[in-house]
Amino acid sequence: MLKKTTPLVLALALSSASLLGAQMPEPIAYTLRFPAPQTHYVEVEARVPTGGRPEVELMMAVWTPGSYILREYARTVEAVSAATETGEPLPVEKTVKNRWRVETRRAPRIVVRYRVYSREMSVRTNFVDSGFALLNGAATFLTLAEDGKRPHEVRLELPAAWKVSASPLSPLPGGGEHAWVAEDFDTLVDSPLYAGNARIYPFEVAGKPHLLVNEGEDGVWDGPRSAADARKIVQAEVDFWGVAPYPRYVIFNLLTENGGGLEHKNACTLMSSRWRTRTREGYLDWLGLVSHEFFHAWNGKRLRPVELGPFDYEREVYTRSLWVVEGFTSYYGGLMVHRAGFSTVKEYLKALSKSIETLQTTPGRQVQPLDESSFDAWIKQYRPTENSGNTTISYYTKGEVVAFLLDARIRRATGGRKSLDDAMRLAYQRYSGERGYRPEELWKTFGEVAGTDLGDWLRKSVDTTGELDYAEALDWYGLRFTPEPAEKKDAEPKELPAAWLGMDVSNRDGRVTVTAVRRGTPAYEAGVNVGDEILAIDDFRISSDGLEGRLKYYRPGEKATLLVARRERLTRLPVTFGEKPKNRWTLEARPDATPEQKAHLAAWLEGKAGVVKEEKKAVTVQ
Ligand SMILES: [Zn+2]
Repeated sequence: MLKKTTPLVLALALSSASLLGAQMPEPIAYTLRFPAPQTHYVEVEARVPTGGRPEVELMMAVWTPGSYILREYARTVEAVSAATETGEPLPVEKTVKNRWRVETRRAPRIVVRYRVYSREMSVRTNFVDSGFALLNGAATFLTLAEDGKRPHEVRLELPAAWKVSASPLSPLPGGGEHAWVAEDFDTLVDSPLYAGNARIYPFEVAGKPHLLVNEGEDGVWDGPRSAADARKIVQAEVDFWGVAPYPRYVIFNLLTENGGGLEHKNACTLMSSRWRTRTREGYLDWLGLVSHEFFHAWNGKRLRPVELGPFDYEREVYTRSLWVVEGFTSYYGGLMVHRAGFSTVKEYLKALSKSIETLQTTPGRQVQPLDESSFDAWIKQYRPTENSGNTTISYYTKGEVVAFLLDARIRRATGGRKSLDDAMRLAYQRYSGERGYRPEELWKTFGEVAGTDLGDWLRKSVDTTGELDYAEALDWYGLRFTPEPAEKKDAEPKELPAAWLGMDVSNRDGRVTVTAVRRGTPAYEAGVNVGDEILAIDDFRISSDGLEGRLKYYRPGEKATLLVARRERLTRLPVTFGEKPKNRWTLEARPDATPEQKAHLAAWLEGKAGVVKEEKKAVTVQ
């Protein structure tokens, strides 16, 4: 069923486009040049059809889908000019921050020129230097402010030193090696462009071409290994969903010593360190990034909330469902790395435990429900302050934990016959078309798979700040949170626990400065402020890196005075030290797990449908 649904939708979209071919609006044709890439500029020339109108309005996006903050891309645009095709200058007037009105003098086409300063190295902005260019549609292209679909053509003119380019767009017929066409502006925005000298690794999965574009291998990154392993992740996720819903897929892998990932329908952009193939932990992180962003090709880009497409590029788009888009993708991101054979059971459980621990030690979980975290992404998740931990919870983190618990709930309710995997596939089948899903539709779908109404459970987990209950999931899989080791009778005498304040500090220029104060900690109770410089405890000076060392000489429960400098003025704050809370959130297999529990654990971790009957199939937990 799955295999038929999506190609049918695609086929319909394509055939209607070609049937209407005669009436298809004339494309906007862009040429991008890099005459001095070391100055970080891309020069854009756009041939824009006017339809004979006396004036046209050009628009630039203010945000990029997948990254929920207004980035005001017009900030980096300069020297916008317009002319007729014969070179007669035309008046251009800026009407709002991201729009330009051009008088056309009834010319059928106008030529618009501008340049874009491109030096923000991130997955959603533009970067150009002598080595390469990464361009995102939203940050690059002015388009006609109009409704309806219009093709957009892009031709890249590469500097002599650059040899390759890549894009998930279709090649422009007759356009040469570096020319592409997008069927509409949405597709253009959703399709990053790369040009430079990357190593490109092509591979095929499910008959579809895939490219891994490695920029910055520099003899450090293991390119062939990364391509072989990316292929395994792609294979595992295509097998999971039962369909590869794109014509071709490009993984832009920029080894630029920073981080981040951004999903697109037919591509993703990853940024990481070129050293990551050299350690197991770093490499698993990178595989997790590939796994996460590629999973979005289904969850988020095709199976999506109604609000997330088609987009209004000029204002915020609100949705309450980012915990599904990002949280469930985070859940499966890690799980698929394990199922594809890369991480051990212990490594997988450790990573999941980290998310549980983060959630359970973030005070903001008791302030902000999950759906609100999603809705307010624009002003909170993407604009964190020193107080964010006290007032917000990440929809990535809590969404992942809710997915873990929901998966266990469905498995338990169906006696292990169904899982969240089935629920996601059914949701994909139903809601990956033009419209998308509303939260209640998704919940109903999950309930159908579980054979029981999950509304109350989901409402509590998503719409309230009530604590999540782990007991059911732990019992189903035969897991527990690692208990503290029992005190041995003849144990060596141990150091008493150190005093703890519960604040974050930075050590800069020989100063210990407070950067965050968690609610409910000794520092919070004592009235320590963000920005305070900690000078002394009980009037004994502490050196720049000595705060932690000094706290070892005090005990939990002991009273002292902190000498702080606040706006240059010295203040003494009485404090009662606490003890650093122990991590109570590390998952492990129960040593006394029953054969059934072991089978449930194996079925989950191996991604097998149905009850695992043979006990010998249970994995050994190491
Ligand atoms: Zn994501």
